[in-house]
Amino acid sequence: MPLLSALRRLGSKPVMQDWPGLIEAYRSWLPVSAATPVITLHEGATPLIPAPVISERIGRGVRVFLKYDGLNPTGSFKDRGMTMAISKAREAGSEAVICASTGNTSASAAAYARRAGMRAFVLIPDGYVAQGKLAQALLYGAEVLAVKGNFDRALAIVREVADKYPITLVNSLNPFRLQGQKTAAFEVVDALGDAPNWLCIPVGNAGNISAYWMGFGEYKAAGRCRSLPRMMGFQAAGAAPMVIGHTVEQPDTIATAIRIGNPVNKEKALKAQGESQGAFMAVTDAEIIEAYKLLGSGEGIFCEPASAASVAGLIKRREEVPFGATVVCVLTGNGLKDPDTAIENNDSKFHTGIEPDTATVAQVLGF
Ligand SMILES: *Cc1c(COP(=O)(O)O)cnc(C)c1O
Repeated sequence: MPLLSALRRLGSKPVMQDWPGLIEAYRSWLPVSAATPVITLHEGATPLIPAPVISERIGRGVRVFLKYDGLNPTGSFKDRGMTMAISKAREAGSEAVICASTGNTSASAAAYARRAGMRAFVLIPDGYVAQGKLAQALLYGAEVLAVKGNFDRALAIVREVADKYPITLVNSLNPFRLQGQKTAAFEVVDALGDAPNWLCIPVGNAGNISAYWMGFGEYKAAGRCRSLPRMMGFQAAGAAPMVIGHTVEQPDTIATAIRIGNPVNKEKALKAQGESQGAFMAVTDAEIIEAYKLLGSGEGIFCEPASAASVAGLIKRREEVPFGATVVCVLTGNGLKDPDTAIENNDSKFHTGIEPDTATVAQVLGF
């Protein structure tokens, strides 16, 4: 039986290597030593998925790939930074961490801190955190403080608290966060064999775009890629300080993960944009939702609204993409984090109150 013998062959030799998490996988590229206790949930190694429907939409022979970082252990790219930040905090003997968060940082900080046996304190803007993220922070055992103010205000408070008390700050001001996050660029190059021509990415505090740029730069310097991408950062029109060039006092967008008016990493991100001949551009909430729905119903990929800003931006600027280019859009977070937005924004038919009999169902189906 050929099938059985094939299965037996597979059984004797594993087809997939166990992924040890990104610190072990990229140890020589990261500021860790034998003395660093590695706190990991085996984050990283997320898929780079071809996007035929979006590629078709762009035309011009462009190949679009989606870096689906929503498949990390807590459902966002924040885990890449958090495995480093928490491992280094543990190494330094810290017993508690704190962050301000639009949701994903708090979920990730809580998971990794608790795994390390540390306390996690998280400050969130009251009423502006997606349900799934709040659920995660609570379930992972964080102490959650909903603050009557926006993210920028919450961040100012946690910076002061971390200055005054023995608590480690794990927002992206913590340099180990960006170190961990740069591994996403390594994975993109490892998958494609070179850097893409464009890297489209949502921008909130502008840490991730800076981390990707660092990763591509380090790989290029080591001869792992021949080229560097143009860094294309997309912000929501109601929260676009990098585009308009100054702080936004009252940031507003459906994409709560990037509802930030004063990005802490703006200097680094401006450097990435300048050196890569990239750009910061705004997309409206309507454009974000259109891309979000297209990703779901066209590509079978459920990301959160903030993540869809990368695809919305690519679609908006499609005429500037070089013919035959390779483009990677970063999908930063998993759609399951924000079910309310999905239920309110889709083009599917949802028939309710259906009588439980075959004839009725067949009739509704149109048979
Ligand atoms: C944190 C986050 C962002 C923004 O990343 P920055 O590093 O703050 O620019 C985008 N999307 C999602 C889903 C996030 O959680």
